Amino acid sequence: MKQLPSDTVRLLSSSQVITSVVNVVKELLENSLDAGASSIDIKLENYGLDRIEVRDNGHGIKAADTPVMAVRHFTSKICSHEDLECLETYGFRGEALGSICAVAEVAVTTKTEEDEISTHYSLNVTGNIVSQKPSYLGQGTTVSVLKLFKNLPVRRQYYSSTKKCKEELKKVQDLLMAYAIIKPELRITLVHNKVVVWQKAKVADHRSALLATMGSSTVAKLLPCHHHQEQPKLLLDGFFPKPRADFSSTSSSSPDKTFIFINSRPVYHKDIMKLLRQHYSAQYPDDPGRNRYPTLMLKITLSPSAVDVNLTPDKTQVLLHNKEAVLTAVEALLVSLYGSDPTADKNLGQ
Ligand code: ADP
Ligand code: MG
Repeated sequence: MKQLPSDTVRLLSSSQVITSVVNVVKELLENSLDAGASSIDIKLENYGLDRIEVRDNGHGIKAADTPVMAVRHFTSKICSHEDLECLETYGFRGEALGSICAVAEVAVTTKTEEDEISTHYSLNVTGNIVSQKPSYLGQGTTVSVLKLFKNLPVRRQYYSSTKKCKEELKKVQDLLMAYAIIKPELRITLVHNKVVVWQKAKVADHRSALLATMGSSTVAKLLPCHHHQEQPKLLLDGFFPKPRADFSSTSSSSPDKTFIFINSRPVYHKDIMKLLRQHYSAQYPDDPGRNRYPTLMLKITLSPSAVDVNLTPDKTQVLLHNKEAVLTAVEALLVSLYGSDPTADKNLGQ
């Protein structure tokens, strides 16, 4: 038996963390949000395979931190595992930048409030700085990712088909829509091959964010919902479809317009999704076979210590400490809107 060489280990683990264009965009966007950005511009070339660039106006990276900013397991967000108990950032593993460096060519330009000018850093495959030069961008950080999966030819080939490219662009748009809804104050643009594909201006609240992302005819069919409890501490806020609202053009058999957030993180939670789908579909007894996913936004706020986000590399699945209490509260909201669901399978737990 032999120990694998370190460059092989790096490539194997990085290619599990960085799996697609949308995955890179998500990691860079979350870094920008963690840096307090209120404006984020995303540029893609050739559907992101040739270039992904994310520019923000956040707090930037201190000069002292730049040598390790892309070295794996270096993070400014937590100091130890215990800090996850009060986690308020999207990132915490110090894995994304380092992993992207292992599968693409990466450059970072950054400027903090204290810096006189910005500095452009070119990084190598281990995330170390190979060269740096002054540049003239404003405060914030720009990360450029060139030639994604250049050393993973099978994966690059897989994402190069026209069908896959279009699917990925759609996924990027859906991803941005989720963050645009949960962060109303965020201004965000998506440009592909120099054409603006999607954008959202800064707005005041979640309703305005839904209007900006989904349009007025959809929002006209939604009702604001709210639930607050102390034991366990739990806050639900959302916009649910009005009873028997006609979403014939959008009420889809896929969950891509059902936005669930736990502590501001867009998540896929199987049991919550099942509950939403069951109660919503039960309003259409004449069409029982059809699984309808409601167009809605549900924002769940819990103590960070009641959520385990370190379940999957992309953190879109979470474990809830008080899952039953959350399901009961969501169900109460659904019953208050649509009445009780006689067909609902109460045995949701696993
Ligand atoms: P994590 O987000 O888990 O800390 P990353 O590899 O994504 O790990 O980023 C490493 C570090 O680089 C972050 O902890 C942060 O200090 C810094 N960083 C990355 N992107 C940005 C950004 N856009 N603005 C400010 N700092 C950033
Ligand atoms: Mg990160």
